[in-house]
Amino acid sequence: MLKKVLIANRGEIAVRIIRACAEMGIRSMAIYTEPDRYALHVKRADEAYSLGEDPLAGYLDPLRIVNLALETGCDAIHPGYGFLSENPEFARLCEQNNLVFVGPSSDVIHKMGDKTQARDSMRAAGVPITPGSDGNLSGIEEALTLAEQIGYPVMVKATSGGGGRGIRRCDTAEELTQQYPRVISEATKAFGSAEVFMEKCIVDPKHIEVQILADSHGNVVHLYERDCSIQRRNQKLIEIAPSPQLTPEQRLYIGGLAVKAAAAVNYENAGTVEFLLTGNEVYFMEMNTRVQVEHTITEQITGVDIVREQLRIASGLTLSYRQEDIAYRGYALQFRINAEDPKNDFLPSFGRISHYYAPGGPGVRVDTAIYTGYEIPPYYDSMCLKLVVWALTWEEVVARGERALDDMRLHGVKTTASYYRQILKHPDFQQPNFNTSFVPNHPELLNYSDKRHPSEIALALAAAIAAHAGW
Ligand code: ADP
Ligand code: ADP
Ligand code: MG
Repeated sequence: MLKKVLIANRGEIAVRIIRACAEMGIRSMAIYTEPDRYALHVKRADEAYSLGEDPLAGYLDPLRIVNLALETGCDAIHPGYGFLSENPEFARLCEQNNLVFVGPSSDVIHKMGDKTQARDSMRAAGVPITPGSDGNLSGIEEALTLAEQIGYPVMVKATSGGGGRGIRRCDTAEELTQQYPRVISEATKAFGSAEVFMEKCIVDPKHIEVQILADSHGNVVHLYERDCSIQRRNQKLIEIAPSPQLTPEQRLYIGGLAVKAAAAVNYENAGTVEFLLTGNEVYFMEMNTRVQVEHTITEQITGVDIVREQLRIASGLTLSYRQEDIAYRGYALQFRINAEDPKNDFLPSFGRISHYYAPGGPGVRVDTAIYTGYEIPPYYDSMCLKLVVWALTWEEVVARGERALDDMRLHGVKTTASYYRQILKHPDFQQPNFNTSFVPNHPELLNYSDKRHPSEIALALAAAIAAHAGW
C-alpha cells in the first residue's frame, strides 16, 4: 500500500483525497500557493509545502511538483481533477521518476485526451461514436464540405478541450464560417492547441456518463451511470445517479459499452466514459481519465469509495469488487454550488464568506473547502461547495434536495443555490423528462426572489461583524 501521497490540487477535491488517505493510514501532503495559505487542504493535510506567490504557477509546474514529491519521500501523486490531472507529460514525469501517478498511464491519458484519437480508438473497439470528422479539420473548406455531408446542425469542438469550453454549435454554413475561427482561437488560448474537429450536433440529447474502475490486473467494472443533462453552456450544474430517465435495458447496454471502451485502451484506475443519448441511440462523446467532480453521487448510490479504490489500484491491488458485487440503491443528486450570480449571467462572485452554515440531516453530504470567514480567491474555479443528497426514491430525493438547499446558509457571496431550487420545482425535472436543453429553454427560472426573513439578514450581519472583529 502507498505510504505518502502528494496531492497536486486544491479546494474540495484536495480535501476529499486527504480524507481518503486519512482513512487508509496513508500520509497526505498538500501543496499550495500563497493565496491558499489559509485554505482547508493546507490545514487538513499531514504536511503542506508552499510553491510560491503566483496563484497558479505552482499548481501547474510538473517538474517542481515531481521534485518536491521525491525530496519529501512521497511514493505517489494524486492529481485530482483540473490542473495537471489530464496532462500526459506530468504522468510521464512521474513514471520516469518511479513515482506512482494515481491515474492511468501517460500513454492512455494522451490517447484519450485527444478527442479525435479517442474517437479512433472507440471506432476500432466497436463503440458507437457521434458521426463527425475522421480526424482534425484542415480548414474551413473541409469543415463546410463535411457539414453538408453530415447535415446541420454541427458542433465544432476543440480536440484538446475540457470543462465545456471550445465547443460551438453551428446551424448554417454562415454560422460555421463565423464560429470556426472563434473555436480555433478559444482552443489555442485555453488549451494551447489549435486543433479542432467536427461532430454532428445531437439535438436535445441526454448526457449520460458511466463511472468505471479498472485495476492493473485486467479487471474492469462499471459503477452505473450519472445523468448530467442539467447543464449551462456545456457545463454541468446538477448531476444525478442513476439516471431516472433510462430503461433497465439501456442501463445494462451503456454500462457494458463503458467497460468495453475502458478495456479496449487497457485503462487503469478510475475513469468516466461520457455518452450522448437520444431516443435509443447512444454515442460515445469522450473519456475523462481522472476522478470527476460528480464521483460523489456514484459513491452515495453504490457505497463504493471511489478515491479509496483509486489509491488501492495505484498500490497495485486488485479491485475490491466484482461487477456482480456492485449494486445501487436509491437516487443521489449533486448541486454544484458556485460563487456566481445567476441573475447577472452567472458572473463569478468572489469574496469573503461572512457566514456559512452547513446543511445536514438524513441523506445529506457536503464536499467543500470553505468555512465562515474564508475568502474565496479570484484565481480559481467558482465552484465553492458540492451539496449531495441521497434518498430511496426519485420523489424523495427531489424533495430532500430542495430541503437541503434551503437548510444551507452561505452569505457574503452570491451563489447558484436558489436557482437550483427553481429547477427542482419544475414539472419537467420532477417528471423526470429533461435533456441538455433544459436550462437554455427555461430562462424564466432565473426570476426568483432571494429574499429571506429580515431577522435572518440581521443574524448574517451580526455574524459578519463578529467574524470581522475576530471573535
Ligand atoms: P467533470 O468532468 O468532472 O464534471 P469539469 O468538466 O467540470 O469536470 O471539469 C473539472 C475541472 O477541470 C474544471 O475546473 C475544469 O475547468 C477543469 N478542466 C477540465 N478539463 C480541462 C482541460 N482539458 N483543460 C483545462 N482544464 C480542464
Ligand atoms: P468537455 O470535454 O468540455 O466536457 P464534451 O465533449 O464532454 O466536452 O462536451 C460537453 C457538453 O457539450 C456535453 O455534455 C453536451 O452537452 C455538449 N455536446 C458536446 N458534443 C455534442 C454533440 N455532438 N451534440 C450535442 N451536444 C454536444
Ligand atoms: Mg465532457
